[in-house]
Amino acid sequence: MPRSTYAQIDLDAVLYNFKSMSLLAPHSKQVVVVKADAYGNGAIQIAKHLESRVSLFAVAFLDEVYELRKAGIKTPILVLQGPHEECECALTDQLGVVWMLHTERQLEWLDHHIAQGLVDNSNHWLKFDTGMHRLGLMPERFIDLEKRYPRLFHPSSVIATHLSAADTPQTPSIGLQFSRFDNMLSQSVRKYPISIANSAANIHLSKARQHWNRMGISLYGSTPFENQEVMTDLKPVMSLHSQVIAVRTLKQGESVGYGDTWIAKKETRIATVALGYADGYPRHAPIGTPALFDGKRAGLVGRVSMDMLTFDVSHLDTVSLDTQVELWGQRLPINEIAKHVGTIGYELMTRVSSRVPRRYTKSNQ
Ligand SMILES: *Cc1c(COP(=O)(O)O)cnc(C)c1O
Repeated sequence: MPRSTYAQIDLDAVLYNFKSMSLLAPHSKQVVVVKADAYGNGAIQIAKHLESRVSLFAVAFLDEVYELRKAGIKTPILVLQGPHEECECALTDQLGVVWMLHTERQLEWLDHHIAQGLVDNSNHWLKFDTGMHRLGLMPERFIDLEKRYPRLFHPSSVIATHLSAADTPQTPSIGLQFSRFDNMLSQSVRKYPISIANSAANIHLSKARQHWNRMGISLYGSTPFENQEVMTDLKPVMSLHSQVIAVRTLKQGESVGYGDTWIAKKETRIATVALGYADGYPRHAPIGTPALFDGKRAGLVGRVSMDMLTFDVSHLDTVSLDTQVELWGQRLPINEIAKHVGTIGYELMTRVSSRVPRRYTKSNQ
């Protein structure tokens, strides 16, 4: 018998979200970002499900490419951090990698490999830092670099940047980043394909929808907007499930869990659920964080343990051994849980540990 703690991944919802995001930007191509095991949803299954509709996947670094190639994914893969070491450049053609180059050192490495005939593929991206200040070449270096590396500033090379606040609409930095980017490109007589948008930008910034958009969180059904201020047509993909493995009634004054952090003010029924921080449930989830018991809400009490959670189910007579529990998912938005914990849906999703089996569902089309 497999354990009844699992993450259900709805592949139909992934496709629905992909179509929904594509409709917003009918003139763009979508890069499907599957880094961090597709944000915890399973990179191989997500890539296989979307492969016939997608011409480019993206991961963070080279190790994440191997896994997809081993599984038979043939589509080119954009590596968002570029090569970490020069020797990685030699694998470009063999692994079907498209590098996102962000330092002058990486330009030198790849240019050298192309010049030596070690890399044929002239398909790569050049990232410029217009204000995120994490990765990217300096915009004021654009013309110099274009002159110095004609092999890299190829007419099909994509010029990219990343916005720091696309998920908080009305932030002034967005306009500032666009103007730095436009100024930089206007110095060149050449025209390049462009990529600016992540999910949030694709949803609400029409100017960011360019040749290529880079879609991550939206495909996995969580809105990138913390305050849900922008409506989006997305379906939840991951539902985290477990079950009740013990029930007891506490007397007033008795406590639950490590550290005796929660004490019953009155007689209380406690349900113990078979999932804990080792499964990726956040240890700092506060008292009152909700879960659904047969679809009805109850609040967390006591500390999150490694393999267990405890909830106050005094108001739910039907809860008993084996009752099904949804920690987040189709009926309880992951962002609502993230808000309780002081994080974002991205973190909760990516942290569901490998101990939790993923169960994939899809209709037979
Ligand atoms: C992860 C990532 C994305 C995808 O962002 P979402 O907010 O998940 O859509 C896009 N671009 C870059 C550079 C990234 O690292």
